[in-house]
Amino acid sequence: MTDCIFCKIIQKQIPTDLIFEDEHIVVFKDIHPKARVHLLIVSKKHIKSLAEVSEKEAALISHMLLAVPSLAKAAGLQGFRTVINTGREGGQIIDHLHFHLLGGDHLPGM
Ligand code: 5GP
Ligand code: ZN
Repeated sequence: MTDCIFCKIIQKQIPTDLIFEDEHIVVFKDIHPKARVHLLIVSKKHIKSLAEVSEKEAALISHMLLAVPSLAKAAGLQGFRTVINTGREGGQIIDHLHFHLLGGDHLPGM
């Protein structure tokens, strides 16, 4: 997607604080962190949101979620929160599938 910020980050057209990258995902620091540690786990494939995901993405979703605890451990977090905003009413701003990993502060219960 040519006008997608996250696709541009994936293609290295926009610089970012890259934490991790493999064949399927990139992980970078959120530009406006909501906690001491705030990472974004982003699929390399442009998928609009969790609402667009189908069974054929099962391995990708699993891979994204399984990356979370190892990233949290590498960041030295004892606990963490994982958030997936979906759609405007769900607080999603960037229409490219991503998980938020937040931690490092005592996050209030939901
Ligand atoms: P959403 O609300 O769509 O779930 O979250 C999008 C997140 O992307 C926001 O927390 C926002 O701060 C972050 N973000 C938006 N543009 C950029 C950018 O250009 N670089 C980085 N690193 N983060 C961004
Ligand atoms: Zn995209």
